Amino acid sequence: MDKTLHIVGGGMAGAEAAWQAAEAGIDVVLHEMRPKVETFAHQTGNLAEMVCSNSFRSDDDEQNAVGLLHWEMRAANGLIMTSADQHKLPAGGALAVDRDAFSDWITNRLQGHPKVTVALGEITALPDGGHWIFATGPLTSSDLGAAIAQETGKDALAFFDAIAPIVYFDSIDMSRAWMQSRYDKGETEEERTAYLNCPMDKDQYEAFIDALLSADKTEFHEGETAGYFDGCLPIEVMAERGRETLRHGPMKPVGLTNPHQPEIKAHAVVQLRRDNKLGTLFNIVGFQTKMKYGAQTDVFRMIPGLENAKFARLGGIHRNTFLNSPTLLDSQMRLRSRPHIRFAGQITGVEGYVESAAMGLVAGRMAAAEILGHEIAPPPPTTAMGALITHITGGAEAKTFQPMNVNFGLFPPLEGVKGGRRGRKDRYKAYTDRAKIDMADWLRAQPLPA
Ligand SMILES: Cc1cc2nc3c(=O)[nH]c(=O)nc-3n(C[C@H](O)[C@H](O)[C@H](O)COP(=O)(O)OP(=O)(O)OC[C@H]3O[C@@H](n4cnc5c(N)ncnc54)[C@H](O)[C@@H]3O)c2cc1C
Repeated sequence: MDKTLHIVGGGMAGAEAAWQAAEAGIDVVLHEMRPKVETFAHQTGNLAEMVCSNSFRSDDDEQNAVGLLHWEMRAANGLIMTSADQHKLPAGGALAVDRDAFSDWITNRLQGHPKVTVALGEITALPDGGHWIFATGPLTSSDLGAAIAQETGKDALAFFDAIAPIVYFDSIDMSRAWMQSRYDKGETEEERTAYLNCPMDKDQYEAFIDALLSADKTEFHEGETAGYFDGCLPIEVMAERGRETLRHGPMKPVGLTNPHQPEIKAHAVVQLRRDNKLGTLFNIVGFQTKMKYGAQTDVFRMIPGLENAKFARLGGIHRNTFLNSPTLLDSQMRLRSRPHIRFAGQITGVEGYVESAAMGLVAGRMAAAEILGHEIAPPPPTTAMGALITHITGGAEAKTFQPMNVNFGLFPPLEGVKGGRRGRKDRYKAYTDRAKIDMADWLRAQPLPA
């Protein structure tokens, strides 16, 4: 069989995957549709173009999960991190870069690599054979999107995300909230207590609606459409349709009894649902939103029980092509129905430049190892890369799967470390210390030449 690795999409993930495989000695063809076919967000024909912000977020590898991901990618000879470090701009604790210099350098590096051929052109179908990684990102071209949907079934490929905020369980005040499914539905105790409920009285509800209506919202980018709205209205749009709409929708108080105040009927109830198997993260059900991030934290902390909530991620709605990876991909990031095809980057249901590049890094290494006749295990779930892969390929709830940023809620909890806000600093340090050791072991164990 031809040992060439074809990578479709020369964004954050595709560029990193190409570099990792080429450095392992594999011949790579990197297919990129730009500048022949454009997207509404990209401005250049460069590889690894940053489409919006010029920041890779926090560079703190002891207290921040993104900073830890930077550390792991540097340890793995990551191309994106090397360029980011070389083209860094002053930005406090964040890693911000000169975006043009950053992507020019990557483009030149890959075009000049003896093992890489950059082929300009759109790929519109899934191939029947060979070794492939698809890393076509949130703005995958429509013909290819249609071909992927045909393979996966249209319900398993989304074209917009609708992200409800996700809260760390240990930041919720359980003296105000309680666990119960509506009407105690469910076969098992676990199902009957699957939801976490936060009650509101009438004054709290009215104040909450006022805050929603007056909050700052983000606008859609030019070229995005809002045609998906019917299925998943942002909560603030629901509130605009009438002050009672939410009380008849996601905040309806029926079928629930507050054990802290059983004699008082709540006027409205906000429900949260488990977002991962570990039970460390809960999403606020039906609360997808276009409110600005600052406004979201102010508004959501008005919910009784969430006054001190810490958010693993805030809500959003964007044009975003992504797979239902928990059902479609195996732990090697291969499409179960066509194992010669891997997916990487944002299309796998991670979100952000760094997370996407990290998925490209792992997919590039896995594909290279496979071509060389080996299989490498995914990075351990205790590392930032491993926590993300574990989440998208099985740890997340498939039914409600939405794109995810890296955060410590995805990591297996540590025994004997203090929980809650007070213990956070020590806990994060312990997570990052553990991850660095495990990442170094994972890299050492790999059968790759570089
Ligand atoms: C409008 C917008 C703003 C964003 N802002 C931010 C931000 O500020 N910070 C952040 O961290 N993330 C942001 N993101 C998310 C960001 O795009 C991703 O995190 C990151 O770029 C994803 O990397 P990727 O490699 O998966 O996809 P991309 O970087 O988008 O790369 C995919 C590549 O595939 C190419 N392609 C698509 N279809 C085909 C095809 N059929 N054949 C060949 N090539 C194809 C595209 O041209 C593109 O170069 C934003 C996304 C959008 C859409």
